[in-house]
Amino acid sequence: MRYSTLLFDLDHTLLDSFASEQAAFRAAMEVAGLSDPHSYFSHYERINHALWAAVERGEMHVDEVRVTRFEQFVDYFHLDADPVAMADAFVNGLGNNGELFPGVVEVLDKLRGRATMVLVTNGVSQVQRMRVARLRLDRYFSPIAISGELDVAKPDPRIYEWVAEQLGGLPKESALMIGDSTSSDMQGGFNYGIDTAWYNPFHKPRPASPEITHELHVFDALLNIVASE
Ligand SMILES: [Mg+2]
Repeated sequence: MRYSTLLFDLDHTLLDSFASEQAAFRAAMEVAGLSDPHSYFSHYERINHALWAAVERGEMHVDEVRVTRFEQFVDYFHLDADPVAMADAFVNGLGNNGELFPGVVEVLDKLRGRATMVLVTNGVSQVQRMRVARLRLDRYFSPIAISGELDVAKPDPRIYEWVAEQLGGLPKESALMIGDSTSSDMQGGFNYGIDTAWYNPFHKPRPASPEITHELHVFDALLNIVASE
């Protein structure tokens, strides 16, 4: 095995986070009395994206994202709605919805026992813990690093240092970070000094930086990457 420690991102890599988010957003809109979630979603996405970018830059704690996105949303549309209740409905919706992408379990089953598998996810603790429990992700991953619990988020190398501590050492030359995000997963792996595998199902153009070791368009290509010499 070329790589013996595999560090996985969760959202949009293993998990259909888009479906999860759509269902959660519908629940949050219901709380606000809005019956047509589609017309509001793109603006919500803009707000959410900007806040997560601030988290990646280390300017905002993940926990702040939870309610702030709905405060900004309520302000923007001048709604008479409680952003905290919306945030609660949204978090429950995120935790309770969204499946692993087809084929993911098969790949993880093949890798289990052959490599140390770790989850490294930027997310709110409550949401990610609900998903871990519902999808029984602790079958595969230990430790599970959730940025909202560690006060540090990818691409900050300190989240990988926490993982290394939990594992009692992490040989960098045989470790691989797998994820869909160039700004958090690929940059995070690069910052920590390990190889990276970019899951790029939509064939996005490869950025000039960070340097990316492997690129895969279908998830099961990971098996070849991990085993290759
Ligand atoms: Mg992701």
